[in-house]
Amino acid sequence: MSGTEVQSVRTDGPTADGVPAVSAQRLLQDLAELATFGGRADGGVDRVAGSLADLESRAWLAARIAQAGLSARTDAAGNVFGRRAGTGDGPWLLAGSHTDTVPAAGRLDGAYGVIAALEVLRTLHEADHPAADSLEIVSFWDEEGAAPDSPGGLTGSTALCGDDHVNDVSAYLELHVEQGPRMESTGLQLAAVTGIVGVERYVITVYGTPNHGGTTPMEGRADAGRAVAKVASRVADLAIGTDAAMVANTGCIEFLPGAPNVVPGEARLTVEFRADREASLRTAGEKLRALAHGSAAEENCVAEVERISRKPVTHFDPLLCDLVAETLAAVHPATGRLFSYAGHDASAMSTRVPTAMLFVPSTGGVSHSPAEHTPDPMLVQGAQALLHAVVAVHARHLR
Ligand SMILES: [Zn+2]
Repeated sequence: MSGTEVQSVRTDGPTADGVPAVSAQRLLQDLAELATFGGRADGGVDRVAGSLADLESRAWLAARIAQAGLSARTDAAGNVFGRRAGTGDGPWLLAGSHTDTVPAAGRLDGAYGVIAALEVLRTLHEADHPAADSLEIVSFWDEEGAAPDSPGGLTGSTALCGDDHVNDVSAYLELHVEQGPRMESTGLQLAAVTGIVGVERYVITVYGTPNHGGTTPMEGRADAGRAVAKVASRVADLAIGTDAAMVANTGCIEFLPGAPNVVPGEARLTVEFRADREASLRTAGEKLRALAHGSAAEENCVAEVERISRKPVTHFDPLLCDLVAETLAAVHPATGRLFSYAGHDASAMSTRVPTAMLFVPSTGGVSHSPAEHTPDPMLVQGAQALLHAVVAVHARHLR
């Protein structure tokens, strides 16, 4: 971390402002135990949605909720919920995340937000704090979309948005590891997440003329491979020149027929843009079309550009974001606001209820990897910040 230290988080008895303190030991133990489901020798986790490890971890979570004296429920979509028993019909402030993973994942993505929400509810329940009666926690089914039969991720949260139960949800809070380096590089300990970048994906197909790779002179070739390679090499500058906060990825490239001695007659490239402004995505798309057609023409080829998917920019609820930002400052002075460059269940939830997120830093910005890490004191601090936010939302809604 750059210059800031984790403030000591009290984990015994109430904090200075009378808000109960989470148990660091219980939080970290539960995180470690959850990581044994699908645990790998390298410290990572394989818990793709629907796998045996995923199903077993969900049964474990429901049992853990019950052991805390709380009521566990699994809905038709596979989402696991927990709340205090006998607390009426809501409305509920929902807090949670997901416990499924990508293959060869880290132990924190999703799991941290679920276990922290459980710890917050346990703490409020034991302290008999009034906010315990209106808090529900959730582990959503299949956030990652990593299974071959997945509809593409955010499956459980999207299902909840179409379920009657969403009408009893007043707001949604999700605590998560950042999965990127921005907090670490700016010295932030906690961040209120104000939205999620929009994502647009394109496939560029270039058509040239397949021919003998040896006998065809260099001038006059219609080399589709060289044309898409030119596009690929220019996409980063295109994105940076459009919006300094935009990111672009050229993740797949394919030359056909694909032989060392054949000039590629056809070539394909995928391009993904992420930005926090719709205007940037629009401009980048226009520039990409021009770049593809220009690069193809330079190589005596023609290009087709197709936008294959589009997720709009998500802006979380401004009032809830303000409330979260205020409560973070009560936990640590090094707090700020961020946009998320990764997708989350919060994106689906925000289409139906006021939503906000909290981030803690990811060491080295590493995620979707067994090397994913956040120091334990920061994990505890983040859970305590979630508890503060839950109490603040409760106070705002009921007083
Ligand atoms: Zn996640």
